[in-house]
Amino acid sequence: MSGTQLTVRRLAAGYHGFRVIQGLDLDVTPGVTVVLGPNGAGKTTLLKALAGLLPRTGDAVLDGAALPSADATACVRRGLALVAEGRQLFPQMTVTENLELGGWLIPARLRAERLARAFDDFPRLKERATQLAGTMSGGEQQMVAVARALMSGPRLLMLDEPSLGLAPRMVDELLAIVRRIADQGVTVLMVEQNVRKALQAADRGYVLERGRVVASGEAQALLHSDAVRQAYLGAA
Ligand code: ATP
Repeated sequence: MSGTQLTVRRLAAGYHGFRVIQGLDLDVTPGVTVVLGPNGAGKTTLLKALAGLLPRTGDAVLDGAALPSADATACVRRGLALVAEGRQLFPQMTVTENLELGGWLIPARLRAERLARAFDDFPRLKERATQLAGTMSGGEQQMVAVARALMSGPRLLMLDEPSLGLAPRMVDELLAIVRRIADQGVTVLMVEQNVRKALQAADRGYVLERGRVVASGEAQALLHSDAVRQAYLGAA
């Protein structure tokens, strides 16, 4: 299918004049790219700025076309989808209703097709199509959030800490789903705190500290790098 790429240059973003990210360059290529970094490094701010939820300066170019700043709807139309931290489902709505909301920008027929595909890809959600989202387990809710993001047919899927609060087995299952999505041709940019598992599932990684890139490279190389090991894996 696609080989979607996102090129980010000199990106800066923050809140009310307080700059969280400065001069950030990022090359997101087909496959899975993971962004690591300590609390407050600016990882969520980066995803929000790219998704059009926060104003930013600098360039963000998706397959040759510049993405607008602070225009989330335009970013969705261009093929970007964000699964925000905390999932943000509608707990009093069913799984099906939550998924349909992810296809709010597309015609009803296409929405029905994508819904059928989501249920093929996530059999567990098909079994629970009429269950209220708020009554599902954390892992199931995260699956709904990912499936909902896929309803818009994104070329680039961004995930903010998808493994947060999940049991280890659920983390593995979720990262396997992320891997499969990338292998099917949707480029993935993922923020994770679960450093080891995230790097094992990813192709490339970036490490942010205080809004800047301090290390980057092939995921395997980062996994074995002294910088990442000392900072995040508790190596001696
Ligand atoms: P974490 O791993 O804890 O989620 P993060 O790397 O995702 O951290 P951000 O959430 O991007 O970091 O936050 C970066 C900085 O921006 C922090 O200092 C935070 O306090 C600040 N910040 C985040 N959101 C806001 C906001 N709405 N208003 C003001 N400052 C904010």
